[in-house]
Amino acid sequence: MPISYQGGLDKVIWPAERNGEYTVKTGYSVKKSLENRSIQKSPSSSHNIAESTWRKIWSMKVPKKIRNFLWRVCSNSIATNFLLWKRKLKGTPCCPFCENVEETPEHVLLLCPWTKCVWFGIALGCRIDRESVTTFDKWYENIALDKGCKRESDYIYIMVGYTCWNIWKERCKAIFEHKEPDPSKVLDQIRRGVAESMDLLNIDKLVDNIQKRRQQWEPPEEGWLKMNCDGAFKDAEDDSGIGVVIRNEDAKVVAGLNKTVKVNSSLMAESLAVREGLKLAVNLHVPKLMIEVNSQVLVRNLTNYEKGDWEIEPIVEDIKSLLGNFEDSRVRWITREANQAADWLAQQSKRRLSIENWVNKPPLSFVNILSRDGLPTPPSA
Ligand SMILES: [Zn+2]
Repeated sequence: MPISYQGGLDKVIWPAERNGEYTVKTGYSVKKSLENRSIQKSPSSSHNIAESTWRKIWSMKVPKKIRNFLWRVCSNSIATNFLLWKRKLKGTPCCPFCENVEETPEHVLLLCPWTKCVWFGIALGCRIDRESVTTFDKWYENIALDKGCKRESDYIYIMVGYTCWNIWKERCKAIFEHKEPDPSKVLDQIRRGVAESMDLLNIDKLVDNIQKRRQQWEPPEEGWLKMNCDGAFKDAEDDSGIGVVIRNEDAKVVAGLNKTVKVNSSLMAESLAVREGLKLAVNLHVPKLMIEVNSQVLVRNLTNYEKGDWEIEPIVEDIKSLLGNFEDSRVRWITREANQAADWLAQQSKRRLSIENWVNKPPLSFVNILSRDGLPTPPSA
């Protein structure tokens, strides 16, 4: 236990309570658990296994053979010497590697001295002590208890599954070949198995990364220009604004516009932004244009063949016909975070601030957004 730098007096601590003070409730549960432990002196005596344990085993993201194996461990049906001895199939209940210790599933997988090297060697760095193990299923149930996040506990269970499985395989092989088990070989096998299972899990990670990437603006591919559009709308009484910024592969602003408009909805404002932006882009004779907007509804209207929202239908028609001027064009949805430049412009127009000549001489707050998006800052004079 780490001690305080200030020293301080010794005091009595009740370890079962977070604040160290004794309560009847925790006193009772500690007494109960000590009783249970003494009942389960021979650890794999038959007992009921929690429903949740079975569920955990069957939902583990490991090969079926490993889930089956753990299920057999919990139901106390793997061929340990203790079990074989009880069934009068073996002359001794003891572990072949340890003198005078019954070979129960808990001993084979968790407590036999060579397995401790394995548990300590895996990335979890588990230290297994006799005290924390009553029966395998209880130990298994609690191993990821304090890991709140599902992914983390998935990972722990994958690790635990491969560790138990490879310990068992190595134990059987060692007995068969009359030699000592080799922890380092087992660690290798665990690493390989876990990596395989994690590869399957990494599909989620990939999706996460894609979503994260969408939160940041990225310059277009070579030969393309990217047009970000946004609308700023509060209510129909007020002025609304639209903002468009067109940038090249170096994140430099090629063109853009901001305008005050009167509209009835933000969808309408966004649609107008795209249409006005396209008119501008056509005049630039851009061959390939990537269009990014915040509105998923608008993207659906522009990319679907089905009938879209009636409210913006005429504008969508204009947009579709303007898109015919490009060799290639795409429309995609991005997050608000990735669309800050267009958003800033739209906000300015909503406030009727005309930002004349901002393409060549952008105001500082706009420059900040552009450079966050990747525009190289000019060397200061
Ligand atoms: Zn042993």
